[in-house]
Amino acid sequence: MTGATDTASRQIMARARELFPGGVNSPVRAFRGVGGEPFVVERGEGSRIWDVDGREYIDFVLSWGPLVLGHAPPAVLAALDETMRRGTSFGIPTELEVRLAELIVERMPHIDMLRFVSSGTEATMSAIRVARAVTRRDVILKFDGCYHGHADSFLVKAGSGVATLGLPNSPGVPDALARLTITAPFNDLDAVERALEEHDVAAVIIEPVVGNAGFIPPDPQFLPGLRALTERAGALLVFDEVMTGFRIAYGGARERFGVVPDLTTLGKVIGGGLPVAAYGGRRDLMEAVAPSGPVYQAGTLSGNPLAMAAGIATLQALTPALHDTVARRTSTLVRGLVEIAARHRIPFTADVAGSMWGFFFRAEPVRSYTDAKTADVEAFRRFFHAALQRGVYLAPSAFEAAFMSAAHSDSDVAAALERLDDAMGQLRS
Ligand SMILES: *Cc1c(COP(=O)(O)O)cnc(C)c1O
Repeated sequence: MTGATDTASRQIMARARELFPGGVNSPVRAFRGVGGEPFVVERGEGSRIWDVDGREYIDFVLSWGPLVLGHAPPAVLAALDETMRRGTSFGIPTELEVRLAELIVERMPHIDMLRFVSSGTEATMSAIRVARAVTRRDVILKFDGCYHGHADSFLVKAGSGVATLGLPNSPGVPDALARLTITAPFNDLDAVERALEEHDVAAVIIEPVVGNAGFIPPDPQFLPGLRALTERAGALLVFDEVMTGFRIAYGGARERFGVVPDLTTLGKVIGGGLPVAAYGGRRDLMEAVAPSGPVYQAGTLSGNPLAMAAGIATLQALTPALHDTVARRTSTLVRGLVEIAARHRIPFTADVAGSMWGFFFRAEPVRSYTDAKTADVEAFRRFFHAALQRGVYLAPSAFEAAFMSAAHSDSDVAAALERLDDAMGQLRS
């Protein structure tokens, strides 16, 4: 809430609302979760973005995760510049695709083969198609509050209890399809066990660390338990690492938790800010994909050279040492926030995994979406706007994770903490 009545942001958003539903091209950008008007961004550099009214913000959203090197990193810009001079798209194999794939499988050695697509939605949708084809089963199991893109099968809300058949929570998703998606509470192995007994499940898909219901880490036994249960039931385990990949550890969830999924979906970071995602895993499963197998999936711009170049530059820069530095700074920020909230006597819980973090206005840690929904959303809204006024951009929703980039320096972290301390002080008044 900039206060000014006729800012450039407001003028542009008025035009946008005539053209786009809600004025935006992806819903959460409209600030409905926090109220007020979204700002319109003009440019970004490093840890900062500037809006069209010249206001500067320290950015902890980072395009919702992809920008692990920060905004406009010179290495990525140089790679894009060099690549685009040779043409922007061919629809013919390029070496760039092979190079990005090699960088991924080097870090995630359980991925034998993969296929590039252009969005996380396509990646999860396709992974599920493979799982259904190879298991010859139709039902998929997802967890309450986990987001896997907007494909029909994933827009399903939990009923009460696990065996409850899914109901679509978006009009336009046929009941007949929604019934094939069942849900369980995150961190609830008993519920998964019951569901796997009652249904012939093709795949269990999960965000290994939840980022789309706020930040929710798995209990230590949860992912190993899922691995054992899915193996016993003949269901595939799919880690949706579109958000967590190259964020929660150098090598993602397998490295952090020691659990190996059958299929993995990636996105966000692997495109370095351009539209790239991928699905991959065991060779015998991926060989089911056309043209080596019968499972059809295709894309005109899949493996686009510009997108591949941005991904390569990003993963090359993101060494284990750099990952650790970013992770350490993220922990410093999260520890600082917890201390600040305690000093202000505000019920608050925060957590971190690598360069991904999040918080809730709630005294106890959050283990499930049900817990998350008991957090104080009104406190979040006030905090969000107080932070924004002080030049710190957090995700405009109480149910989204936050990120850190390699461009955020120790002094950025210190500056952010000082501003967020002040913002937290506003909550008591
Ligand atoms: C962002 C996200 C998706 C969807 O990716 P898009 O590129 O927005 O389609 C899927 N799964 C997870 C875990 C995500 O965070």
